[in-house]
Amino acid sequence: MTQTKNDALPISVRNVTKTYGKVFALNDVSLEIKSGEFLTLLGPSGSGKTTLLMVLAGFTRPDCGSLKFGAHEMIRTAPHLRDVGMVFQNYALFPHMSVAGNVGYPLRLRNVPKAERAERIERALETVQLGGYGARSIDQLSGGQRQRVALARSIVFEPRILLMDEPLSALDKKLRDRMQIELRHLHDKLGMTTVYVTHDQREALTMSDRIAVVNHGRIMQLATPQALYESPANRFVADFIGDSSFLPVERHAGTVAHAGQTLMLAHPIPETAELLLMIRPERIRLLRDTPPPHINCFKVCVTELVYQGDSFLLYGKTGQGAEIAMRGAVRDGTVSALPKLGDWVTLGLDPADTVLIDGTGV
Ligand code: ADP
Ligand code: MG
Repeated sequence: MTQTKNDALPISVRNVTKTYGKVFALNDVSLEIKSGEFLTLLGPSGSGKTTLLMVLAGFTRPDCGSLKFGAHEMIRTAPHLRDVGMVFQNYALFPHMSVAGNVGYPLRLRNVPKAERAERIERALETVQLGGYGARSIDQLSGGQRQRVALARSIVFEPRILLMDEPLSALDKKLRDRMQIELRHLHDKLGMTTVYVTHDQREALTMSDRIAVVNHGRIMQLATPQALYESPANRFVADFIGDSSFLPVERHAGTVAHAGQTLMLAHPIPETAELLLMIRPERIRLLRDTPPPHINCFKVCVTELVYQGDSFLLYGKTGQGAEIAMRGAVRDGTVSALPKLGDWVTLGLDPADTVLIDGTGV
């Protein structure tokens, strides 16, 4: 492809609202997407992801708000004039056309001459590793190959913006894992601004430069994968990304306490009315000997122990009834040395892993 990173465009969404009757599919959404960025909209079903993508593509006109690609206001621009490539969940391929017919369709729409069309179709097919497949018919292809054809069709006219709505959800897990990496490489190679939709948090963490977590038509947090995982803005985000236990804490003498026990912290305390201690299962440890001095300890009674091959999951309950999950690595001898149901054990949490979040989040 002749495309370079300079061709990518930043996207600016300002105060966009879209209602269907009483439902706010989008509720005053503002979002700045950088040129060449891979940004993912992540949220549960019905949160507004597709609606936002459709607003970007021009298939949905919002009730109000502004949308800019670079310096240009786009709200009134027709979809085919927006220079946007789009990949849908169900691929939306034409079953009666060949692979080349499908991939070349956007070029025909744009009146690209036939000879040039053939060359660009083949180049797009090579980009998605389907070189030489042009004459095949769609029903001769596997799910993964169809997905690649849809992708080739979306990039064949070298758009500056690529939109993808759950493009991998019809594939099995192994293929999905591989395609995630491939799509990311393709993005890096072609350099267009990419907006990707998924409800799969792991997929979002794997692929994205930044993730916008969406719920009820609002953006709950926009941050890098690491920032989202390590310092979620509120309980919704913390719950949606990764597994966590949440313990209520109260402000106490410049720090916080859970059930009367003062905690050692390494991060500032958020200024919110309600606070929760978020504990990631892989960050809390099973302490077998005398605890080291500068660590937060929680005594729990083991209520569940799950062996998962590469790791084990231990669920415990404190004397006050708070539940904590911990994940540990399985090594030689670990399994036979694991505690039993009903045992009391001590779990240790470093101050650096002691994350306080806004407990009032949606
Ligand atoms: P997501 O893609 O995150 O699953 P959508 O953007 O499809 O969510 O939908 C957001 C909300 O808007 C949902 O409550 C959905 O039912 C509603 N909605 C979306 N499209 C329409 C439509 N064409 N007519 C009525 N309601 C819609
Ligand atoms: Mg959707």
